[in-house]
Amino acid sequence: MAQTAPPDAALTAAVTEIAAEMAAETERGTVATYIPQLACVDPNQFGLAVVTASGAVISAGDAEVAFSIQSVSKVFTLTLALGALGDDLWQRVGREPSGDPFNSIIQLEAERGRPRNPFINAGAIAVTDALLGKGEPVEAVAGILHFLRGSAADERIAIDEAVARSERSTGFRNFALANFMRDWRIVQNDPARTLDVYFQQCAIAMSCRQLAMAGRYLAWDGRTGPGAARVISAERARRINALMLTCGHYDGSGEFAFRVGLPGKSGVGGGILAVVPGVASIAVWSPGLNAVGNSQLGSLALERLAARMGWSVFADG
Ligand code: GLU
Repeated sequence: MAQTAPPDAALTAAVTEIAAEMAAETERGTVATYIPQLACVDPNQFGLAVVTASGAVISAGDAEVAFSIQSVSKVFTLTLALGALGDDLWQRVGREPSGDPFNSIIQLEAERGRPRNPFINAGAIAVTDALLGKGEPVEAVAGILHFLRGSAADERIAIDEAVARSERSTGFRNFALANFMRDWRIVQNDPARTLDVYFQQCAIAMSCRQLAMAGRYLAWDGRTGPGAARVISAERARRINALMLTCGHYDGSGEFAFRVGLPGKSGVGGGILAVVPGVASIAVWSPGLNAVGNSQLGSLALERLAARMGWSVFADG
């Protein structure tokens, strides 16, 4: 898609207006409570950050506040696992939307333990297991953090250990998914070791600014900006974007593609990373979720931003 970059003034106005509109919204969704530590988060927060082709970061609201990125981490572990295993990774995980809730177990039995896609919990656990390989969890976690700090150009990115502990002590369903996949040898490590990495990757805390910066390589065909250093191949960036568009919002993926028209990945912490290929990397955060687990205001804000800026992967430029 060849879109021209909008003048930053128009974008700044849109970002500022949308943050003000979101502050006035009363229907804010419900904060996730199944991870007890996430239930403590104040739902009256909203942040938005957009990185443009010039490298400028345009932000509003609570864009500097770190939040639990949760499933947004799955984009980055997929990137790393594809780098480590190449296309062999697809033997362990599919590329189809699931149409089921993010933590569903039902398809796994029917489909011989191979998860539908890398962004539902089962698929992400399989990807994390592949990334762990025969290594140590502490090394895998360090590798994920290293990648994120490098992509975001920010060494402060860290794990919220309280969130990781909270999820580890209550993640019974994820243990069930991992054990079931271990039986099919889709997961090849001791499930506890794989989940040790998975719970920590989900507990990484980042601000909208950091997340939008980290996502730049998806917006610029595998580079952190036009003509900048290559992180991954253009083909791989395009394919990750395709999966984000079709599978990035659980069983709300079709609705998000319909309303927003951009590749995106959401997490139950209320964050969403979205990309406008060739134009912008966007991170939005508001902790209240809609019925399918996607940020209520985050989705609405992205819908409005895309509409006002004329951004869509289906636009003619
Ligand atoms: N850590 C969360 C879980 O496994 C991630 C869920 C999500 O953000 O979709 O339940």
